[in-house]
Amino acid sequence: MALRPQNPASGTGSPMFQPTRISASPSKLKLLDEAGTRGVLLGSRCSLCGSHTFGTVPSCQACYSPEVESVELGAEGTLYSYTLVRTPPPGWQGDVPYVLGQVELPQGPHVVSQVVDCPPEHVHIGMKMLLYLDEVPGANDDEEARVIFKWRPAS
Ligand SMILES: [Zn+2]
Repeated sequence: MALRPQNPASGTGSPMFQPTRISASPSKLKLLDEAGTRGVLLGSRCSLCGSHTFGTVPSCQACYSPEVESVELGAEGTLYSYTLVRTPPPGWQGDVPYVLGQVELPQGPHVVSQVVDCPPEHVHIGMKMLLYLDEVPGANDDEEARVIFKWRPAS
């Protein structure tokens, strides 16, 4: 089930709410509303060299300093590279082939995920991308659905 809308310009304050959906990757994706329709990518910023890393990490991926702080990396980027996947991983339930995009965030880190809402022939390097939230069912009946992130063209 697709979760819309995704608004990258939304505020990123500290919401006091109990989400009804939860992030499948809490160290990489923070949900900004109860329904799990808006989210922001998480990362780490090094106090020593200033490098950003996607995801919250214990030490800088560039200089290995442990002086890192958690930061929000936003919900948009630029398509750096992509590939058309014709042989999906085991258990893949989506369409085949599909586009797997490598998106460069403004702060520098690259984030790889599926590109949706765009035919493969219209995908091109350099296009502006927005985060797109989707939902996957839990691993079993007792487990609630999780929100995952994908990319979609900004226009
Ligand atoms: Zn560093």
